[in-house]
Amino acid sequence: MNRHRPLSKLAIIWPIIKLGEVNRDTYDVLVIGCGPGGSSAATFLTRAGKRVLVLEKEFFPRFHIGESLLPCNMTIFRDMGVLAALQAAGFPRKYGAQFELGNGSISTRFVFRQGKFNREPESIQVERATFDHVLLKHARECGAEVREGWSVIKTSSDAGGVNVEARDPDGNPHHFHAQYLIDASGRGNLTGNQENLREMHPHWKKVAIFGHYEKVALDAGEGKTDTVIVRLQNKWFWIIPISAEKTSVGLVIDKEEFAQAGGEPEAVFKQWLETSPRVKERLQQAQRLGELQTTTDFSYYNRKFIGDRLLRVGDAAGFLDPIFSAGVFLAMWSGRLAAEVVEKSLAQGRPNRRGFASYEKRVRKGLMFYWHAVENYYTTPFMELFLQPRNHHDLPSAVNAVLAGELEGGWKLRWRLKYFFLLVKLQKRWPLVPHLRFLPRPGRTPGRTPAAAANH
Ligand SMILES: Cc1cc2nc3c(=O)[nH]c(=O)nc-3n(C[C@H](O)[C@H](O)[C@H](O)COP(=O)(O)OP(=O)(O)OC[C@H]3O[C@@H](n4cnc5c(N)ncnc54)[C@H](O)[C@@H]3O)c2cc1C
Repeated sequence: MNRHRPLSKLAIIWPIIKLGEVNRDTYDVLVIGCGPGGSSAATFLTRAGKRVLVLEKEFFPRFHIGESLLPCNMTIFRDMGVLAALQAAGFPRKYGAQFELGNGSISTRFVFRQGKFNREPESIQVERATFDHVLLKHARECGAEVREGWSVIKTSSDAGGVNVEARDPDGNPHHFHAQYLIDASGRGNLTGNQENLREMHPHWKKVAIFGHYEKVALDAGEGKTDTVIVRLQNKWFWIIPISAEKTSVGLVIDKEEFAQAGGEPEAVFKQWLETSPRVKERLQQAQRLGELQTTTDFSYYNRKFIGDRLLRVGDAAGFLDPIFSAGVFLAMWSGRLAAEVVEKSLAQGRPNRRGFASYEKRVRKGLMFYWHAVENYYTTPFMELFLQPRNHHDLPSAVNAVLAGELEGGWKLRWRLKYFFLLVKLQKRWPLVPHLRFLPRPGRTPGRTPAAAANH
């Protein structure tokens, strides 16, 4: 037997191939999902020089709902280096938000640049298919490896990192290893569901019926690109101009009421359009592009936003009724915070426990900030004060800051909001402003009263 047989070529290169494979499938960070939350986390991390893999189950551009953005998003775009690309995409600039009663009796407009506590004077409205694609391409250009059509199936962790099982576009299984995992799977809530962490809101079980339209009658002048929210009793319409031609229009309604009304999106939408003269007026000449779509709109949060080596961002942490259009901002803001914690952890060679705990606290506080506001929004006293603001102690500016995404505006904002919510409580018993009527007034032609524009 020849004990000194020369090594075959394959034997020599085999360890190199194996090493290559290990390297290929091992990352600093693996991000699940490339919506706004995932792309923000991936961009900040790759710009910090980290090796990032993003697995996204869809091929972009793909449709997504959630089209009105908050001014505070602009800071994040700037810091990600994607603002110029978004400006080049030609999205409408959004200067304000309008709220009106369905019967047309009262309305108010908030102009962001007039809010004393706002750091950003405007935002943008977007068609999500294009917007999310710009963000994905930017993450890729910054150096993230983004694989489209790849679904994450399961994740687990051990002392050395996280293991991720995924399927490629042909359905073949693959395994990846990373030091940290960012779950940005949106309402798919992959890891939250895996650990059974989801707490649903007991009452906010809503359905959204929506479509894109051409030729919607929008305001003249600067208000043309405002988000318009039209409030009916227990339900509301949105009108969001997402391009020079297209406007997104949707109705958010209780799931039970939707079912009781027959559960036919077309019929239910029409029924409530009839009781809302202002929306009807705007849609008089409009043409819908395609069918009405529906989606559930159930608010929830996970009991934990972190694991040993895991951070949940955006809707994968919690999802809120979209009345304040805060979802994309919360996703990108938490994506950025998650990236900072991971970056610190990678630098020190172990999870930065304090950073993880602070992430949990800060993101929960941010989510609860809007949770509380939404809870109030569905009460009549809140709407009464909100639609008839009085300029005491800059309260309209404090409310404006909520609409702009000023989550961490400090004490000057916090005490005013506490005071505002106290007034909401008082309004219930001792009316500070006149009560509102949600239903059409018999025999009256509804018209718009620009009630509070003068107060801002
Ligand atoms: C009716 C309605 C109206 C809304 N209106 C607004 C609005 O006007 N403004 C606003 O800011 N927000 C709005 N939102 C909320 C907004 O849509 C979300 O908050 C936002 O998209 C969250 O971003 P995200 O990155 O966390 O999740 P997503 O944008 O949902 O992205 C998650 C991504 O993960 C991918 N994914 C999921 N599971 C997996 C998996 N297993 N493997 C790989 N990839 C996976 C998905 O394909 C998706 O691309 C609205 C929501 C609803 C329901």
